Amino acid sequence: MNKQFQNISQQIVDWYKKYGRHELPWRRNITPYKIWISEIMLQQTQVKTVIPYFKNFLKKYPTLRKISQASEDEIMAQWSGLGFYRRARNIFLTKEIIKNDFNNIFPKTYNEILSLPGIGKSTAGAIMSLAYLTPRPILDGNVKRVITRLVNKGIKPIKEKEFWQISEKLLNTKDCFSFTQGIMDLGATICTPTNPTCNQCPLKLNCQSAFKVKIKPKNKKRSIKRLIEMNLQLIHTEKSFLLVKNEEDSIWSRLWIPFNRATMDSYLNRLTHYKNEQISHQLTHRVLDLSINIYKSEKEFKIQTNKKYKWIKKDKIKEYGIPKPINKLMNEL
Ligand code: SF4
Repeated sequence: MNKQFQNISQQIVDWYKKYGRHELPWRRNITPYKIWISEIMLQQTQVKTVIPYFKNFLKKYPTLRKISQASEDEIMAQWSGLGFYRRARNIFLTKEIIKNDFNNIFPKTYNEILSLPGIGKSTAGAIMSLAYLTPRPILDGNVKRVITRLVNKGIKPIKEKEFWQISEKLLNTKDCFSFTQGIMDLGATICTPTNPTCNQCPLKLNCQSAFKVKIKPKNKKRSIKRLIEMNLQLIHTEKSFLLVKNEEDSIWSRLWIPFNRATMDSYLNRLTHYKNEQISHQLTHRVLDLSINIYKSEKEFKIQTNKKYKWIKKDKIKEYGIPKPINKLMNEL
C-alpha cells in the first residue's frame, strides 16, 4: 500500500508540473514571509478573492522587515473586506514575536513555526514544504476531500488522526514543493466539492471513487445562516467620523466601528439625525442585519467611556481597519 501511495504522490507531482497554477502570485520569488501571508489569507478564503488582497498586502509590506514597523490598525486596514479578522490580528502578533524573539528572521523549524499565533499543523507543514523544501504533511479542506475520495471512505467519516497518517504516507519527499502545491491544486480545480472532473484527474486509475462521487443534496435546514442584528449610530462632522475600536471577542473584533445605541443615548439629542440605512451583509455562516442611524454634529466632542474611540478624519479612513459595509457607507457620506 505504501508503494501505491508513493505512486499516487509521484502522479500528483507530475500533474502539478504540467497543469498546476504556477502563476499564483505567492508561487513566484518565494520567501517564508510570502508563504506565511498567503497561507493565512487562504485559511478561510478562496484563491480568487485572496489574489488582489495578497498583491496589495505585499505592495505595502513586501518583506518581514517592512511589516515589522506596522501597527495593528495598519494591518487591519490592509485586511479590510477580507473577513475573519482574527487572522489579521494573528499576523500582527506573529510579526511582533518574530521581531522580538527571532531577530526579525522567519523561524526555520517546524516547532517554532507551529508555536506562532494562528498557525496550526497544516499551515506549519505548508510553510516547511513550500518555503524550506522540508517535507511535512498538510491537511486543509481540499486535501481532506482528495484523500477521502481516494481511499473510498466517503460514507464512513475518516478520523483526524487517520487523515494525517494518509497525508504523511502520500508526502513526496523528493519534491515536496510540487507535491504540496499539486495536491492543493488538484482539490481546488479537479477534485472539486460538487463536480469532480475525474476524466482529467491523474489519480483516476488509483482512486476508489473515480467516476462514482455522489453528492448528497444540501440539508436546507443546516444551510440557514444565523442572523445577527446590530443597531449602530454613525456620527460625523464635516471632516471626521466618530468610531470606536471593537475590543470584544466577537464579529468585527479589533476593527473600528460606529458606537452602539446604549453608549451614545445621552449624546444623540444634540445631534442632527438625518438618515437611517438598513444593510444586510452576508458572511460565511451568518447574516448581519444592520440598522445604522446617521447623525451630523457641528463639531467633534468627547464621550464618557472607557472604550478606545477616535474622530477619524475622512481622508484617513483608509489607514484603519473598518468593516466593508461601514466603509462603503462612510465613503458615500
Ligand atoms: S478520480 Fe475523481 S474522485 Fe478521485 S481524486 Fe480524482 S477527481 Fe477526485
